[in-house]
Amino acid sequence: MSDHHTGSCQCGAITYTLSAAPLWVGHCQCTNCQKFTGTGHATNMVAPKDALTVSGTAQTYSYDADSGNHMTRYFCPTCASPLYGQSSGSDSLVVIRVGSLDNPGAVEPQAVIYTESRCAWDRVDQDLPSFPGMIKR
Ligand SMILES: [Zn+2]
Ligand SMILES: [Zn+2]
Repeated sequence: MSDHHTGSCQCGAITYTLSAAPLWVGHCQCTNCQKFTGTGHATNMVAPKDALTVSGTAQTYSYDADSGNHMTRYFCPTCASPLYGQSSGSDSLVVIRVGSLDNPGAVEPQAVIYTESRCAWDRVDQDLPSFPGMIKR
């Protein structure tokens, strides 16, 4: 996959550049992703934090994930678009919301996770490997 990506929020107040290929791309159907996207899943990509350069000031919201880690979500204070998140369990990584990319079609989802909370109507690519929760590493 390409190692240069740009993205922004909907109103354009926040832009970013990622100068690395994503380490993982996939769909997450957990209830937190459903709440903040307002739909059946989020499409996320994991990337090295030091390759992400953000312009503009995001607002943050933190919560405790079911992994036991503290998650912080970064979003635009003006248009509320979700941009990326970070877990206290992995300081060197960020989880970028693929829909915020200027070219979301440039990356390739590899799996579906948290299918245990999948809505019956949220039928993402049935050929991808799927996992009831987090992929165990
Ligand atoms: Zn915005
Ligand atoms: Zn999720």
